[in-house]
Amino acid sequence: MEYYYSHKKIQIAVLEKYKKLPFAIIAMENNTGRPVNSNAVFRLTGKKRILSFSRNKFIYSNELLTRFYSGKLVAEENNGEWIFTLTLSLQDYITGVLYSEYSADTPPEALKALAAVMLFRTAHSDNRHGRAKFCDLTHCQVFQGIPADNSIIYRPALGELSYRFIGYSKSNLPVFHSTCGGVLFSEQLWNQNGSYSHSLIKKKDCLADGKILCSASPHFFWNRTVNKSVLHGILSEALANSDFQNSGVIGITDFDSLENESGVIEIELTIKKIRMNIDRFRLIVNRKMGWHYLKSNLFTIKQSGANYHIYGNGLGHNVGLCQYGAVELARRGRNWRQILDFYYSPKLPPIHNN
Ligand SMILES: [Zn+2]
Ligand SMILES: [Zn+2]
Repeated sequence: MEYYYSHKKIQIAVLEKYKKLPFAIIAMENNTGRPVNSNAVFRLTGKKRILSFSRNKFIYSNELLTRFYSGKLVAEENNGEWIFTLTLSLQDYITGVLYSEYSADTPPEALKALAAVMLFRTAHSDNRHGRAKFCDLTHCQVFQGIPADNSIIYRPALGELSYRFIGYSKSNLPVFHSTCGGVLFSEQLWNQNGSYSHSLIKKKDCLADGKILCSASPHFFWNRTVNKSVLHGILSEALANSDFQNSGVIGITDFDSLENESGVIEIELTIKKIRMNIDRFRLIVNRKMGWHYLKSNLFTIKQSGANYHIYGNGLGHNVGLCQYGAVELARRGRNWRQILDFYYSPKLPPIHNN
């Protein structure tokens, strides 16, 4: 098992944030720091190299970004954009995701839980980016290369991390997010089919003592104040290609992710009073205002004069494993299987408070 996993290869679309920038890649020797080959700009092969690149390495030398990758990196130009495809071992990839998603002091059982999720996602996902399985951004999962110093991060033994994700499949991969803010939503968030009749709230992120597991996260509270006309403009523009193209948005009803007793999550827009999936609303707003503007799907909107006040909890979509919650469960002595049972079991988890 271990042999199979550690030798399995995976292709990842890396440096996605930099695909539109003119820059040079230089492969450098690990020990000397000297360039391997001055012609190594477009095609790099080798066991383990330091890649350093910048938008303009001569003028913006202080903006040099260094990434450590293993495997083989191929850079191709396509219609003025770079496509960087990294081929590396599955073991190195999952190690790199853990390194990118968690800090070095994370309890090993929380890292193992996320590694098991990654193992399932990798085995069951189609290629989502051309010939690459995943990209290196939050769209798939963050991958910033492998740690330069292997001693600082847990390297999972993938063969030991097989877990039965009941009800999950290629069309319903297990997902994770940074901080739920206290409330976990079901996968139905993305599967409402125009019907908003069932509850999206799966459960609270807590054990029997009621203390929210991810409350130590720096993203636990957030708030925004936005001018009404700004938010109306963003929504009107997003709806311009739909059936509502001749009617602008003139209002948003006060909203609370938790207010409705049935847990139905919807946003009414006063064009014709349409209802919008909360995750769609969040993405529409964030596309204009920045990806961390509405940080999660758990928030309230209240009108006040010319503004909307938005108060929220958490970071991410609120579905699947809550990373800060998983760390807290590990600190309270839960092993990786119990952590996965807590976040992915279709039933209430068999975890009891000590
Ligand atoms: Zn992606
Ligand atoms: Zn949480």
